Amino acid sequence: MARGPAKRTVAIVLDTTKLAERDLIVTLLTEDGALERAVAKGARKGGSRFGAACELYRTSDVLLAPGRTLFVMTDARLVEGAPMLLRDFEVLSAAAAIADCVKAASVEGEGEPVVFSLVARAFEVLSTPLDLAHLHLIAAAFAFKLMAMLGWRAELDVCVGCGSGDVRWFDARSGGALCSGCAARVEEAELLGEHRRRWLRALLLCPFSELASSPVAPGDAAWAARMALDWVRAQLDVGLKSFAFFAEL
Ligand SMILES: [Zn+2]
Repeated sequence: MARGPAKRTVAIVLDTTKLAERDLIVTLLTEDGALERAVAKGARKGGSRFGAACELYRTSDVLLAPGRTLFVMTDARLVEGAPMLLRDFEVLSAAAAIADCVKAASVEGEGEPVVFSLVARAFEVLSTPLDLAHLHLIAAAFAFKLMAMLGWRAELDVCVGCGSGDVRWFDARSGGALCSGCAARVEEAELLGEHRRRWLRALLLCPFSELASSPVAPGDAAWAARMALDWVRAQLDVGLKSFAFFAEL
């Protein structure tokens, strides 16, 4: 998709792949919400002009020139005041899970600006001290919110099978909540008490900052991460390796 004029944009680094001895292919989420890949020549050399601007999960101001197949990054500077994720294994795993969702749900070169601001807000919260349970909550909320923005909103209030308001089950492949009658016809429906239904609703509706300061039992948070993983997998039919790894932490 590296056609047309050069593009100057703020972008979040979602992935990096080594290329030859000194270069990197950087996968960027640009501020218009598009996923773009660019070659950063010499980025792995000590003293590279790109410096920290091409590191994972950083927010940078980049200049992308069209190349033969990918963009070529001709300039990159860190954006001042952008979130810096703690160099902590659990935080980085949560960020990788979020990046995994965005990459799975995006088409290269196209996007929605709301996706950029959703990732920026999630990373902002991940840059504050959080325990594993809250990291699970943030990643789960990110996944449900992202999918809702892109047209796959989980139905939680009425049965997706018959419209009944008496919902006690949840099934990602069916599209959300189910009554007992409809759940009996689904093989792997998940029993959903009122407590956990409230959690799913909170993941969809509450801002990340509010979730980050809400008390949560580690069991509920880990369950939320697994439900979010199921939800994205069921809608997009993808593996999501990093998210699966993070949900098992
Ligand atoms: Zn039903």
